[in-house]
Amino acid sequence: MTGMLPYGRQSVTEEDIAAVADVLRGDWLTTGPQVDAFEADLAQWTGGVGVTTVSNGTAALHVAYAAAGVGPGDEVVVSPMTFVATASSAAALGATIVFADVEDETFCLDPAAAADAVTSRTRVVAAVDYAGHPADYDALRKAMVGSDAMLLADAAHSIGGTYHGRPVGSLADLTTFSFFPTKNLTTAEGGAVAALDPAVLKRARRFRTIGLVRDRAELRCPDEGGWHQEVHEFGLNYRLPDVLCALGRSQLRRLGEFKARRAALVARYDEALADLDGVLPPNRKSWADPVWHLYPIRVLDGRRREVYDRMRAAGIGVQVNYVPVYWHPVFADLGYRRGSCPVAESFYSQQLSLPLYPGLSDADQDRVIDALTAALRAGSVRTAA
Ligand SMILES: *Cc1c(COP(=O)(O)O)cnc(C)c1O
Repeated sequence: MTGMLPYGRQSVTEEDIAAVADVLRGDWLTTGPQVDAFEADLAQWTGGVGVTTVSNGTAALHVAYAAAGVGPGDEVVVSPMTFVATASSAAALGATIVFADVEDETFCLDPAAAADAVTSRTRVVAAVDYAGHPADYDALRKAMVGSDAMLLADAAHSIGGTYHGRPVGSLADLTTFSFFPTKNLTTAEGGAVAALDPAVLKRARRFRTIGLVRDRAELRCPDEGGWHQEVHEFGLNYRLPDVLCALGRSQLRRLGEFKARRAALVARYDEALADLDGVLPPNRKSWADPVWHLYPIRVLDGRRREVYDRMRAAGIGVQVNYVPVYWHPVFADLGYRRGSCPVAESFYSQQLSLPLYPGLSDADQDRVIDALTAALRAGSVRTAA
């Protein structure tokens, strides 16, 4: 048997490697011309909405929440069907996390549940473009009418996708991206924040650069000397180096190609699943043009665990995305109880991600489908016996 097929994997070419090597031979390793250039390239995918790069997707969330002014006493409404960072990065700023359930087709934040969760203390409503499918942003905006909270899109899965023809990155007040190797493009570690309001983008940029103020017009002591810089509000060092921005620029050139290959693999999975009993494929809304990051199936009849174990034993690196965030002990210890978001919990109990990445060959995908078919049959033979 060959090695375990992963559920996600980067696609790195000799051109990517050459782009990185070029920067290593130059004068700038960290904040140099590649940073601005990558941010400008990213803005072409966000419909011109301004972008700041950061060191990873978790940092992007931390920066975005900080730019939204999240602090102690604030509430942040979050989808529980996500990686823990969507919630933990706001908790790290002292906010109280309020989980609102997902809707039962896309498993993205349910606008009705979000409307119920919003209070006068809500500072941010955070949706997640689960598996690459955009959340229903127009409905979420409506759910927030009367609140001065900001809408955040965790688009770690969805860069390159559109909603009613509008690009991801332009749909919420703040959008965060991750460039981790399994995501739609990679810079090894990396991320970015897009913000509709230039003043919010400026706050985001400043937070990711230790809070340093260098603009003479803004200095409290402008005559201190040419060396002088000031910190007015605390920030952290979340910069993405030039070396990695060069990799990101090179990767971004292939995002369209990555999207097309992911779509072709999704179409092949959809076709294969149509002939299989006991599993459901992901749904897609007519208004969405997703970049599928995951291929999340539902395994029915309480058989997810068994199918997961059988496929892993067959060398197929299936994954589960995600355990509802408030099941993590850190939230349980704060008093969050199971049962609060039943749609997310029911989805979690069935969910299984099949391998999906641009370099997955048709032959390897056939292996995945054969292993899934065998796992489902194995169970039914046992049940019949
Ligand atoms: C990957 C991911 C993150 C975090 O990104 P990192 O770059 O790994 O820190 C946040 N939210 C979601 C939904 C993710 O998938």
